[in-house]
Amino acid sequence: MVSITLSTPATGEYEQPIGLFINNEFVKSVDGKQFEVINPSNEEVICSIYEAGEKDVDIAVKAARKAFEGSWASVTPESRGKLLAKLAELFEKNRELLAAVESLDNGKGIALAKGDISSCAACLRYYGGWADKIEGKVIETDSNRFNYTRQEPIGVCGQIIPWNFPLLMWAWKIGPAVATGNTVVLKTAEQTPLSALVAAKLVAEAGFPPGVINIISGFGRVAGSALTHHMDVDKVAFTGSTIVGRQIMKASADSNLKKVTLELGGKSPNIVFNDANIDNAISWVNYGIFFNHGQCCCAGSRIYVQEGIYDKFVEKFRERTAKNVVGDPFDPKTFQGPQVSQTQFDRIMSYIEHGKSEGATVEAGGSRHGTKGYFIQPTIFSNVQPNMKIMQEEIFGPVCSIAKFTDEADVIRHGNNTTYGLAAAVHTTNLNTALRVSAALKAGTVWVNTYNTLHHQLPFGGFKESGIGRELGEAALSNYTQTKTVSIRLTDAPFS
Ligand code: ADP
Repeated sequence: MVSITLSTPATGEYEQPIGLFINNEFVKSVDGKQFEVINPSNEEVICSIYEAGEKDVDIAVKAARKAFEGSWASVTPESRGKLLAKLAELFEKNRELLAAVESLDNGKGIALAKGDISSCAACLRYYGGWADKIEGKVIETDSNRFNYTRQEPIGVCGQIIPWNFPLLMWAWKIGPAVATGNTVVLKTAEQTPLSALVAAKLVAEAGFPPGVINIISGFGRVAGSALTHHMDVDKVAFTGSTIVGRQIMKASADSNLKKVTLELGGKSPNIVFNDANIDNAISWVNYGIFFNHGQCCCAGSRIYVQEGIYDKFVEKFRERTAKNVVGDPFDPKTFQGPQVSQTQFDRIMSYIEHGKSEGATVEAGGSRHGTKGYFIQPTIFSNVQPNMKIMQEEIFGPVCSIAKFTDEADVIRHGNNTTYGLAAAVHTTNLNTALRVSAALKAGTVWVNTYNTLHHQLPFGGFKESGIGRELGEAALSNYTQTKTVSIRLTDAPFS
C-alpha cells in the first residue's frame, strides 16, 4: 500500500494512505505528482499525497465502468445493502481514528468530528436499508398492453465534495449512489483529503468489489474538471460553491450532457419573533452560525430579530458567543477550531473589513484569534443594511449580521431577498406564525425553534441558486436512478 506513518494527538501513530484509491488499491499517480496537505491549526505541512491528473481520472473512470458493467451488476440489492451496513459498522469501529484525522486535517473540534463519524455511519446504514427497496411500478393504460417501470442505476458517477465536512459529504454521496447500483469516482477537496483515504481502506475491508468506489485526491481545475468533462461519466454530483456549480453545468453541457445535481451555497435567514423563548433562540442562533466555524452552506448568517426584543437579544447573544471555546481542535471542550485554509482565512477577514468600512457595528469579535493557525473570533455585526456585502454574500466563516424587523410581512420580504434558498429558521412560540412563515420562506429546509439539525432521513437541498436535486432521505435516491418504461403488447398483432 502507498502509505506513510503519521500521528494525531488523540490516537498516536497511524497508517495514512497517500495514494489514489482505484480498484481497491492505493496507487501512485501516473506522473508521480504530489501536493502538500496543511494543518490549519499551525499552518505546517502534515504530509504530501499523490495528486490525480487527467490520466488518473481516466484510469479511475475505466475502473468504475468495468465494475458497473461487470462484477457490481451481478451483486444483488440485498448484498449491496449488506455491504453498506458493513461499511457503517467499520466507521463506528474506527470512529476515534477517523475523527482524529478529520480534526488534524480540517481543524474541526474532536467532539464535533466524532459526531460527524456517527452521522456517517447512520447515513451509510440508512442507504444500505434502501438498497433492496428500489421499486418500479405497473401502470395500467389499456387492455392491450402491460406496462411497467424500472428504476435503473445511472452508471458511473463522478462525485466532487468540499472540505467543510470531508467524511460526512463522502457518506452522503457514496451511500445513495452505491445503494442504487451505481459505481463512483469521488474527488475529495484539495484542502482535506486525508480522512477520505483512511475511509477508503474500510471500503476494501467491507468487501466491495474493486472499482465500485474509487477515491481520488486532487485539485478542482485539474481532476475535478477532468471528471466533469469526461465522456464516460454518466452523472456528476457536486457540493461546493455556486460559482463552481455553474462551471459543472457548463462542463456537462460541453461534454456528454451528464446528469448534474448540485448542493451549493446559501445566505440563510434566521428569524426571531418577539414571542420566542429568547434563551433557547439565542442558543440555536449561536449554533446556527458558529457550528463548524461558520463553514456550513446552510449557516444562519442573516439574523432578523423583532424590534420588541432586539436590544435584549443582541446583549444576550454577545454574552453567549463569548462562551464559545475557540482553540485547539484536539481539546474536547473546543467548539470552534481554525478555518480550513489561508485562502478561506483571508477571504473571511476581508469580509470583516468590508463590514467595518461599510459602517456596520462590530458587536463581538472582528479580528483574528491568536497569532498562529487560521483562527477567527466569532464575529457579530449589527446596524447592517440590506445592500451591504456582508448581508448579501456567503462568507463561509464565523461571521453573522443582525438586523431589526417590525412585522411578519417585512421579515419575509427581507428573508427572501437573496439569490440563495438553502435553509431558513423561525423562532416563535406561536404555531400559526411558525407555519405561515415556514410556508412563505423560499428555502429547501426551514427549521422551527432549532437550527442545523440535519438528519439522514430528511431531504436537504436548495431552492433558487442554492442547487439542483436533494441530498439525504428517500429524495436522494432519485438523483441516482433513471426510470425505464417497458411496454408490452399483449396480443401478437401487426400495426394497423
Ligand atoms: P471552496 O471555494 O469553498 O473551496 P469549491 O466550490 O471551490 O469550494 O470546491 C468544492 C469542490 O469543488 C472541491 O473538491 C474542489 O476541488 C472542486 N472544484 C473546484 N473547482 C472545480 C472545477 N472547475 N471543476 C470541478 N471541480 C472543482
